[in-house]
Amino acid sequence: MSPDLLLFGASERIMAGDIMFFGFLFILSFIVGRLFCGWICPAGALQDFCFDINRKPAPNKFNWIKMALFIPWITFFIFIVIYVGGIKQADFFYKRAFGISIAGVTEWVMYFMTVAIVFIMAVLCGKRGFCHYLCWVSPFMIIGGMIRDSLKVPSLRLITKPDLCNSCGLCSRACPMSLPLDELIRNGEIGHSECTLCATCIDSCTKEVIRFAFRSSQKIKKN
Ligand code: SF4
Ligand code: SF4
Repeated sequence: MSPDLLLFGASERIMAGDIMFFGFLFILSFIVGRLFCGWICPAGALQDFCFDINRKPAPNKFNWIKMALFIPWITFFIFIVIYVGGIKQADFFYKRAFGISIAGVTEWVMYFMTVAIVFIMAVLCGKRGFCHYLCWVSPFMIIGGMIRDSLKVPSLRLITKPDLCNSCGLCSRACPMSLPLDELIRNGEIGHSECTLCATCIDSCTKEVIRFAFRSSQKIKKN
C-alpha cells in the first residue's frame, strides 16, 4: 500500500502492485463499501490498539484533509502515466526484493516510519486519527462509494429502525470512526463516507436498531 512506488513504477511505464491493489479496493467498494478499513487494514488494527492510549473522538470536520492530499497525488500519478506515454507492463512485486517490502535496511526504515506516523496520528488526534486525516487508501473507497450511490448500485450497508432508537448515544460513543450515529439515525442519514462497516454500533446497541443489509442507498431513503 505504498504511496510512492506507484509513482516510480509509472515513470518506468510499469504498473506497480500498489495501484493494482488500490484499484481492487475501488471496485470492491461497489459491493462492500469500506469493509476493508474496518476488518482487514493493518493500519486500522494498529489504531484500534491505540484506543487504550487515546479514546477521544477524532473530529470529523477535518476529514477533507486526506482528500486535499489525495487529489494532487493521484493527479500527479495520472500526469506521469500520460507524460511517459502509458503503461507497458504490470509488475505486482515492483521494487520488492524477493517479493516483500522489508527486504533491506532502507525498506525497514520506510516501513517503521509509516507505522510511526499511523501510531502518532491515532495517539495525537484521537480514535483512528490516521484514517480520518492522512490515509491515502480510503479515498479510493470513498470515491467508489460515491459513484456506487449515484448509480444506485445495491451494496452492503447499515440500515436502521429509527422508531426503536431512544437516543442513548451508546453507538456514537462506541463508533471507532467517531460518527454521531444517534444524530444520523434521527436524520435518516446512516450511510456516511467514513463508516467502515465495522459493526461496533450494531454490537453496542441494546435496542437492535442497527443491522446490516444489502441495499441501494436509494431504497433505504425510500423506506
Ligand atoms: S445505541 Fe441504539 S438506541 Fe442508543 S442511540 Fe444508538 S441506535 Fe439509538
Ligand atoms: S457507524 Fe457503525 S459500522 Fe460504521 S464505523 Fe461506526 S461503528 Fe463501525
